[in-house]
Amino acid sequence: MKNEIRIFSPATVANVACGFDVLGFCLDSQGDEMVIRKTKEKGIKITYIEGYDLPYETDKNVAGVAALAMYENAKPDCGFEIEIYKRIKPGSGIGSSAASAVGSVFGMNELLGKPYNKTQLTYFAMKGEALASKSEHADNLAPAIFGGFTLVKSTLPLDILQIPTPTELYATIIHPQIEIKTSEAREILPKNIPLKDAIAQWANVGSLVHALHISDYKLIHRSLQDIIVEPYRKQLIPHFDDVKFSAMEAGALGCAISGSGPSIFTLNKGIEIAKNVKDAMSLIYSKTNIDFDIHISKINTQGIKIIN
Ligand code: ADP
Repeated sequence: MKNEIRIFSPATVANVACGFDVLGFCLDSQGDEMVIRKTKEKGIKITYIEGYDLPYETDKNVAGVAALAMYENAKPDCGFEIEIYKRIKPGSGIGSSAASAVGSVFGMNELLGKPYNKTQLTYFAMKGEALASKSEHADNLAPAIFGGFTLVKSTLPLDILQIPTPTELYATIIHPQIEIKTSEAREILPKNIPLKDAIAQWANVGSLVHALHISDYKLIHRSLQDIIVEPYRKQLIPHFDDVKFSAMEAGALGCAISGSGPSIFTLNKGIEIAKNVKDAMSLIYSKTNIDFDIHISKINTQGIKIIN
């Protein structure tokens, strides 16, 4: 059995407009690399971090906390070292912390001979994610582990559904370089919502899931609407309305906040439209003094994977 493994741990988009805290999908244009290594010495150590300034202490890094959760359950007679090659900027809203949490548990599971299934891996990764977001949720973790689109039906007990990915779907994701604290993005949300808004939102979640099953792009377009969270959170993202308007004019099927922002994603039918949408979104921020990154990504149906 191998003693060392290198993996690609993908970025993910959570919420997907109408599916606040439950829906997510996996990207393949962006992701971290991680190396997980078995050691004779027991325990979990983070031995190298490249790219961003993140804590090396096992209990302060989501990769370490997730690894410890699994380690305490598996009780193996070895230890593990973790190297993190961070490419996903922390706090960008495309699952930077989730990628780290998923990477360590996936890698350790492979090196132990796969004692755990994907749902169990998500459970351990949730313990790490809780460090970054102060609550246990799996909407970024599930798509990173399972690939494609996922729906977290419940976290207690953990119940994850895989939803099919229409083949012509491409995402364009823009990351304006501004800081939004996840806690601030949570606090801004209303405690109660009108029943009529709840009805509209769950109708959209249901129809989006149906549309993904039958590859109905027009129905995807009609379903990608968030009337509950977006009206509040968009205030934290300068020029959100202009970006969304331009993306929709350029042919996007839908445009919404990725996770708790500041990244904004669109879903598009075909690479050509995704490129037009990229140009349209870029134009808005290039007229401001806000720096941005923008990517086109095919939906990653495989999720986290081993690389050589
Ligand atoms: P994102 O949605 O991009 O993951 P979060 O706000 O959920 O952003 O998580 C980023 C926070 O988690 C930062 O405060 C960061 O310092 C902390 N963190 C701890 N360990 C890691 C890690 N390995 N990767 C990314 N962020 C981490």
